[in-house]
Amino acid sequence: MSLTSVEIHQVPNFIGGKMTPSASPRRLPVIAPATGEVIGEVPLSTADELDQAVEQAAAAQRAWGGTPVKDRVQVLFRLKAILEENIDHLAQVITRENGKTLAESRGSIARGIECIEFATSLPQIANGEVLEVGRGVECKMLRYPLGVVASITPFNFPLMVPLWMTPLALGLGNAVVLKPSEQTPLASIELAKALEQAGLPKGVFSVVHGDREVVEAICDHPEIQAIGFVGSTRVAKLVYERATANGKRVRAMGGAKNHLVVVPDADPEMTAKNIVASATGCAGQRCMAASVVLAVGEVDHILDKVKAQFASMKAGREVGAIISKQAAERITGYIDRAEAGGAKLAVDGREAVADDVPEGGFYVGPTMIDHATPQHEASCDEIFGPTLTVIRCKTLDEAIEIENGNPYGNAAAIYTSSGRAAQYFSDRASSGMIGINIGVPVPREPFSFGGWNQSGFGGSDITGAGAIDFWSKTKKITTKWSDEHRGNWMS
Ligand code: NAD
Repeated sequence: MSLTSVEIHQVPNFIGGKMTPSASPRRLPVIAPATGEVIGEVPLSTADELDQAVEQAAAAQRAWGGTPVKDRVQVLFRLKAILEENIDHLAQVITRENGKTLAESRGSIARGIECIEFATSLPQIANGEVLEVGRGVECKMLRYPLGVVASITPFNFPLMVPLWMTPLALGLGNAVVLKPSEQTPLASIELAKALEQAGLPKGVFSVVHGDREVVEAICDHPEIQAIGFVGSTRVAKLVYERATANGKRVRAMGGAKNHLVVVPDADPEMTAKNIVASATGCAGQRCMAASVVLAVGEVDHILDKVKAQFASMKAGREVGAIISKQAAERITGYIDRAEAGGAKLAVDGREAVADDVPEGGFYVGPTMIDHATPQHEASCDEIFGPTLTVIRCKTLDEAIEIENGNPYGNAAAIYTSSGRAAQYFSDRASSGMIGINIGVPVPREPFSFGGWNQSGFGGSDITGAGAIDFWSKTKKITTKWSDEHRGNWMS
């Protein structure tokens, strides 16, 4: 079927509980990365459309925020069941718009569902506190919603990242306005449908598509109390600075350059397999992906296994697609320059594409850039593709110095069979999430997800127990009832 005969699906906004076509004349094609096909058109909504969503959200939040938390989480129990029932369909939507494999899409939904499960426990874990703080004096802490909050999300996990934030923010009584990536707008509409089906009152969850214009309008909107942002460091910083200048609470997660340290006593099979999975999963388009291996001492017997596994993999077969043509060109540009700069391409993925991938798709195969210097751009920048830079180090301290010197600080890992080396590294690594023999050390609930340094701006974390305070505010009530004041209750 030719592209022109495909019906272009106009992606709607979801405002006031209704699928609402945008009036914006600005639109972008939604492109399936695996085939290059245009599968829809996303509106770049206007600030007026955001106003409409926020107005409806603010009106709906008043009743939702006053609904007991035990009742609010019933919607989340139903949401979990609906997503589970529809996991095949949702995985197809994600794979189509994002290009990751179906297994990866299913995995990302399962991970998002865990975030819903955690939010269903809010009545048990976020129900306030009470303590007798002095003789006859009681202090009570109660938790309140913030009001209308916004969530701005990246292309790489079109459903999971919205699920990092939405269930907790809703469970805590807020109304949520989601601004998904314009590159992957379809899963957010599926989430809107699922929440509607789960019985969420109209207006409490909205989706407003768009780009910079609508993001800036979110940062400036006086009614929006807090913003959870996930995306690149450049934009995270812009959003953080603009929205905090407007008095908002912001947690902005940024990019990453994750280092995996390999020492000679590491288990060779497990280490190699784990490094390969971390570097190539989701075609390297994960903020937790392995990006640099710091090879300490004689570890060639492990690196050879990584190399062999990389060389056996093909983009479009074991490795999914890259989000866009521009992104694929950015990645191959890094590989070109690494080669020109003197690094050795142990595995060159520029042509490692499966024979049967569609002509128009965007692919780069696993690439291993060996003998890089710490200063090389492939050692420093976030490439966000299936590349692995290897830097040879003499000592663990040298590896730690390189890890510490990188401006990002999302994740870092060490592969070792020595508890002492593991402890030494985890004490000194300058990252918020550490793996010991784990290449994608995502903290699962109740632990919370969050990076350090340029990988995140603003306090707290974005998921788990650490995010409960972010999406709520507390009131402390101090009470004294004593015989002395009986009859004079105002004292
Ligand atoms: P991105 O920063 O380009 O986009 C993220 C969001 O910001 C999107 O909704 C986009 O529409 C909006 N945006 C883009 N440019 C903007 C601008 N100039 N002004 C205002 N808004 C703008 O990120 P991406 O390419 O969609 O996603 C990949 C990035 O996200 C990577 O850097 C990755 O490491 C990061 N990421 C981080 C985490 C984390 O938790 N630290 C998780 C997932 C992805």
